[in-house]
Amino acid sequence: MFDANDDADSRRASHRAEVEKAARHEAGVSRRAFLRAGAGVALAAGLPGWLSGCATSPGSGSLPWAELAASLQGKLLLPDSPDFRQVAAPWALQYASKLPQAIAMCASEADVRNSLLWSQAYDVPLVARSGGHSYAGYSTTRGLMINVSQMHAVDIDPSTGLARLGGGSRNRNVYAACRPFGRAVTHGRCKEVGVAGLVLGGGIGFNMRAHGLTCDGLKETRIVLADGRALTCSAHENSDLFWACRGAGGGNFGINTGFTFETFEVGEYTVFELAWAERLAEVFDALQTMALKAPDTLGMKLSIVARAGTTGLTLSILGQLAGTRDQLDALLAPVYAVLRPSKQRIESMAYWDAQEFLSEEGYPEYSHERSRFVPESLSPAAIATILDELRAWPGTRVAATWKFFLMGGAIDRLSPADTAFVHRGNAMVSSIELEWTAQDSPAWVEVNQRWLSRFHDRMERYTSSFCYQNFIDPAQQDYLHAYYGANLGRLREVKRRYDPKNVFRYPQSIPV
Ligand SMILES: Cc1cc2nc3c(=O)[nH]c(=O)nc-3n(C[C@H](O)[C@H](O)[C@H](O)COP(=O)(O)OP(=O)(O)OC[C@H]3O[C@@H](n4cnc5c(N)ncnc54)[C@H](O)[C@@H]3O)c2cc1C
Repeated sequence: MFDANDDADSRRASHRAEVEKAARHEAGVSRRAFLRAGAGVALAAGLPGWLSGCATSPGSGSLPWAELAASLQGKLLLPDSPDFRQVAAPWALQYASKLPQAIAMCASEADVRNSLLWSQAYDVPLVARSGGHSYAGYSTTRGLMINVSQMHAVDIDPSTGLARLGGGSRNRNVYAACRPFGRAVTHGRCKEVGVAGLVLGGGIGFNMRAHGLTCDGLKETRIVLADGRALTCSAHENSDLFWACRGAGGGNFGINTGFTFETFEVGEYTVFELAWAERLAEVFDALQTMALKAPDTLGMKLSIVARAGTTGLTLSILGQLAGTRDQLDALLAPVYAVLRPSKQRIESMAYWDAQEFLSEEGYPEYSHERSRFVPESLSPAAIATILDELRAWPGTRVAATWKFFLMGGAIDRLSPADTAFVHRGNAMVSSIELEWTAQDSPAWVEVNQRWLSRFHDRMERYTSSFCYQNFIDPAQQDYLHAYYGANLGRLREVKRRYDPKNVFRYPQSIPV
């Protein structure tokens, strides 16, 4: 085992040896190489874990960055690199001031491995970054950001229908690669979201009721562990870690460098966006009744928004039907009988054109989103609470939204213990989103945050105590229960087996 008294020189020497080894073995470390790496890291790691929060300031010359840079195929960005600030920025702007000391722009699995070994050798905190869309800014660090976003190649084998994705692929890469083949996976609608974060936490999207969650289509993943081992995980290899990679969320066990998905064929779809400004409780009830009985070919999101500068609320639905306009109209007839929408767009088109209709760019913003899984239809009291709370929104310069995404269908063909995603058997996942700008004063944002907390707490009695780990929420109490429920014990075992030193940690990570 490692000696806690190792001096800095021996740690650096060990790291150099590791880097040389890594250069000899590109991606995929043999068993023999792994044993050498394990021994090297044990020497190199010195103290268990890195000194979270005690890193030197950005730009410090005291660490041998050149040594790390020399070991990488990709670039090492330092604070004076022209791209540094842009690459470091997270989607959630309230965390943008937390800057890394350097960013390893990994081009290969070996780069990921070298970055992991280097940061442990020098006790530099590390974090993985793919799409940067963590709601809580959990892919930021004051240490080394191990950024895999350049590893975004997507390769589709038409003979098997399998899609092989680099660990840093985003939804946009999936869109571009799948379109020519007329195939798809369950993806999100924000093109910039990383597939890594999406699939590791489950992955909801308009295809999930017909084809399952994003993680349900995962067949295999490659992951580099803290000790430098690169493993293939599937139903047949390292199946416990594969189980965990389907729902436990990013940043808990290692850095995933590749994903293999099964794809499905897509044809013509009817997409829709409809809005109502009156009789919202009745319209909500009619829409919910329709949605909960709808075929699995319907994917739908319902939003009620309070927007700055407007009076009154707007209720809207957005989604797709793998079917015709007539079939959609038939589904919506009972809703039209309550009230015709004040705005409506319904169009039939090929699947990937339909995704352009549905997609959002997902520009960085100030936002806090809090979720609740909903096991069954919402009662009139629940609907009244949602409307009352939105009408009582203190207000920012942007908006506050309550929304649900329709679940059920193929999601429930697996049981809650089949993958780490425990939230199967729910009718919907709901969330409240608060958005603001830098011009809203901190004190006023705080008033809004208190409103958000009260609203979130009030909704628990109508929904559940379970929350979506991909809508990760730094304010959530009892978050391990909320995200993982009965799967938590097994996840902790997996954590102990694959990351016993808790190298991969953040405020809400799975503990050893
Ligand atoms: C605008 C927007 C739209 C969204 N839409 C959807 C949606 O439609 N469906 C849905 O399910 N979710 C959606 N989400 C939530 C999204 O799935 C999560 O925020 C997800 O974690 C983002 O992944 P990322 O790779 O972009 O984020 P990052 O911030 O890069 O990573 C998120 C977490 O995963 C870790 N991580 C990153 N890369 C890796 C890796 N390669 N290996 C291991 N760990 C890694 C990070 O350290 C961090 O803890 C949306 C979020 C936003 C902001």
